[in-house]
Amino acid sequence: MSEPTIGILALQGDVREHHRMLTESGAKPVNVRRPEELLGVDALVVPGGESTTMFKLAAAFDLLEPLRKRVAAGMPAFGTCAGMIMLADRIQDGIEGQQTVGGIDVTVRRNAFGRQVDSFEADVPLDAIDPSPQPQPYHAVFIRAPWVESVGSGAEVLARVASGPAAGRIVAVRQGRLLATAFHPELAGDARIHRFFVELVKEA
Ligand code: GLN
Repeated sequence: MSEPTIGILALQGDVREHHRMLTESGAKPVNVRRPEELLGVDALVVPGGESTTMFKLAAAFDLLEPLRKRVAAGMPAFGTCAGMIMLADRIQDGIEGQQTVGGIDVTVRRNAFGRQVDSFEADVPLDAIDPSPQPQPYHAVFIRAPWVESVGSGAEVLARVASGPAAGRIVAVRQGRLLATAFHPELAGDARIHRFFVELVKEA
């Protein structure tokens, strides 16, 4: 697969920024809003935004079940921030009735970093993602971000916050070809995580 077609769930959230990063990483991005549009994609990005709204829209557009089926059938997917919540098997501090697509065996806590630090930036070591000998840390942007509260046996920790009050918090995880970050790699001007995902898709 030389240039995989990667859908971006375009119900709500920062769709355009993912478009640019995917193009830069050698993929062909397309928006996905309807169940039929899912059929034509090799993989899916679930962007940041607001997971409660995204869940409600996904349910209203009859996308939840088709998404669950494709993820269960092995479609690679990459969730960022609200998208990480959507790909998690379990949520804490969700709203009443909030469901996810699931696929990654983790529990995420919504808005975990607290209201007082709504948005912040922090360095995240990228050793598990960047194959270069001494990878630069990733300068990550967090916006009302979740963190990964606990990781089940199916999932793997890829990165933790390096320092500051949130040091040690798990902010990137993977389960097979499902990838999720609590931060927004589409906003960082650093395509290493998108490239990693596109490579996973090409191997699929
Ligand atoms: N707090 C949001 C949620 O619960 C996520 C924020 C984001 O994606 N930037 O979905």
